[in-house]
Amino acid sequence: MAMAGVFSYESSEVDWCEDNYRHSENVVEYFNTMSSFIFFVVSPIMLYLFHPYARERNLAVHLVWLMMIFVGLFSMYFHMTLSYVGQMLDEISILSSFCWMVLLITVVTTLSSFIKPTANAYALNCFAIHILCTDQRVLRLARVSISLWVLAISCWISDRFGCSFWQKLNFCYLHGMWHILIVVATAYGSTLIAYLDANYEIPYSLPDLRYWPHDNWALGLPYIVLKGTTKTRKSC
Ligand SMILES: [Zn+2]
Repeated sequence: MAMAGVFSYESSEVDWCEDNYRHSENVVEYFNTMSSFIFFVVSPIMLYLFHPYARERNLAVHLVWLMMIFVGLFSMYFHMTLSYVGQMLDEISILSSFCWMVLLITVVTTLSSFIKPTANAYALNCFAIHILCTDQRVLRLARVSISLWVLAISCWISDRFGCSFWQKLNFCYLHGMWHILIVVATAYGSTLIAYLDANYEIPYSLPDLRYWPHDNWALGLPYIVLKGTTKTRKSC
């Protein structure tokens, strides 16, 4: 492939179920491009909601949602052009945000076993399971997180491999739905990890779960609040 060719429209071998150029002559997959806007809506809100926890724990926490903004940018570019470069950027950003998640979890668990040698894997697991099993709000958060992940991945697989079926029904929006679901699933999943981490690492901050924009709404973005004051903070 020539150097200029990798940027040209439809130079990628990947093409999603949505009809190309159906709604715009400049945008190859209109709904897949537009649904990527969700990344720019949810990421700043989550950065804002996570700030008290990140400030108390580690500002590196913000990397998760900063990465998500880039994932959104690359996703929009890819679906707009279906270019080879767009596909690479989209896949690299998904892969690298996955690596970051794994790295973050590894660092957190390794550090905690160094800082508190007694906190071996056994204690860590028991603690997490203990919270999950006793607190109904956390249990609900875990259930919704897993359901959203399963639903998001089902949409992706269905669009990829069941396209002829969905085209007969004239419903080719499943990849767009995957964009929306994966962003919300990440919000739920990252809040669950943050809550378990805060309970274990900074228990003096009295972490609690809330939903944005309103706590009583069944659907909303979850986040953690720290109810403890800095006065109760450990000095060591
Ligand atoms: Zn996509």
